[in-house]
Amino acid sequence: MSESIRALKERMAEIGHLGRIAGVLEWDLQTYMPPGGAAARSEQIALISRMTHEMFTAEETGDLLAKAEAEAASLDGDSDEARMVRNLRRSFDRAVKIPTSLAAEFARQTTLSQEIWARARAESDFAAFAPSLERNLELVRQIVSHLGYENDPYDALLDQYEKGMKTAEVSAIFETLKPHLIDLTRAIAERAGSGDEPITGHFPIADQNALTSRLAADLGYDYTRGRQDQAPHPFCINFSRDDVRITTRFKEDEWMMGVYATLHETGHALYEQGSPAEYENTALAGGVSSGVHESQSRLWENLVGRSRAYCIYLLPRLQEAFPEAFSGVTVDRLYRSVNRVRPSFIRVEADEVTYNLHILLRFELERELLSGRLRVADLPAVWNARMEEYLGITPPDDRRGVLQDIHWSAGLVGYFPTYTLGNLLAAQLWDTAQRAIPDLEAHIERGEFAPLLEWLRANVHAYGSKFEPNEVIRKATGAPLSSEHFTRYLQTKFGALYGLA
Ligand code: ZN
Repeated sequence: MSESIRALKERMAEIGHLGRIAGVLEWDLQTYMPPGGAAARSEQIALISRMTHEMFTAEETGDLLAKAEAEAASLDGDSDEARMVRNLRRSFDRAVKIPTSLAAEFARQTTLSQEIWARARAESDFAAFAPSLERNLELVRQIVSHLGYENDPYDALLDQYEKGMKTAEVSAIFETLKPHLIDLTRAIAERAGSGDEPITGHFPIADQNALTSRLAADLGYDYTRGRQDQAPHPFCINFSRDDVRITTRFKEDEWMMGVYATLHETGHALYEQGSPAEYENTALAGGVSSGVHESQSRLWENLVGRSRAYCIYLLPRLQEAFPEAFSGVTVDRLYRSVNRVRPSFIRVEADEVTYNLHILLRFELERELLSGRLRVADLPAVWNARMEEYLGITPPDDRRGVLQDIHWSAGLVGYFPTYTLGNLLAAQLWDTAQRAIPDLEAHIERGEFAPLLEWLRANVHAYGSKFEPNEVIRKATGAPLSSEHFTRYLQTKFGALYGLA
């Protein structure tokens, strides 16, 4: 490896370490930090965020990058070094557009805002959160104006999470999905009462913790390089490929939330644990985009975790953990209950059919807020009206409505659509994996998840973030992203479950 590329790699490794240090503070904030720690923590995170930004956008980085580009010009364009330099150029050009003071202010403001949001949500008090949200949006608009865009201001935000994806493409996908999802939701609602009621009982949290830890391990989650904790809003975070942590949450009177939160976060974690060792501390490490990341979590949570085959594996484990609740339960009963479709208020608890309508609503509202067409003060009313329009239900309070998600308090505008992109890709990957792995479902019934994990390792994880998301999708599935696999999957599965024509 030539001199400048090596020097650039060393500098990027240091900048990467700083980012991971901020990550540890963030993980602690979300798991164990007492509420009183919020003010000091926001200063600490803002400081590291400023240092990271300064170091990355410094002239020295720009010089190293320019020299590395000159060296990389003679390399194969698809070599690791050439791709690394290309990826860095893209993020560098983006980062230098944002003034350091704005980056630090954004980090401080959104850390504080998350604390304000958490209190406002607990008290279902939107007015208490509104000024903070207003300020977040103001900063987001400033960031957009620094970044610039061709057609739509939302493009500048979406691109941060889904490289290369355009707002118009997302709109087109939703235009296709929307009528299909609304029709399917209504058709199923007419068939309500199909033996799909939740399996109720008392589920001690210690037992749920033990069960979910084991489920994650069975999927292939490596606890020597990870751990599971509890957080109000489950997430996965990594400080290296050898320290990838998940969080989940439990309710004593409900078992599904904990199990499926764990399966979901395990899907994210498997992707990060599968990032190639040789890419560590470079711009090639880790998951490539939020959408591809979400395809991994949703694949394990839904395509695997809500399949009949997985229910065959899961039932004896549930019966062992909670004998009273599950003693007379059949596989069919379990399968129906984990696939119950009903319009509901909370996105993260939504079934596979209605979930993307929750995302569509957020995508629309974000664009309207960003452009100023929608005022923050009017947000709860508009939220509720659109819930009624798409799902036929109106949230009884803002806690179960506009205040439910952490994203806007964290400044994550432009992120929501990646959940739907992930759902579409999960179905597309699943179709491909089923063709590639003989007897995939029989393996899952027996709790053998290694064949699927190995296939994902080879066809998705092994690329790290070397290629663009659309390149990874093509390499893994042989085709560009399409919503067809997902709509066919929903139609087949739920058509059979609810006896639809
Ligand atoms: Zn996720």
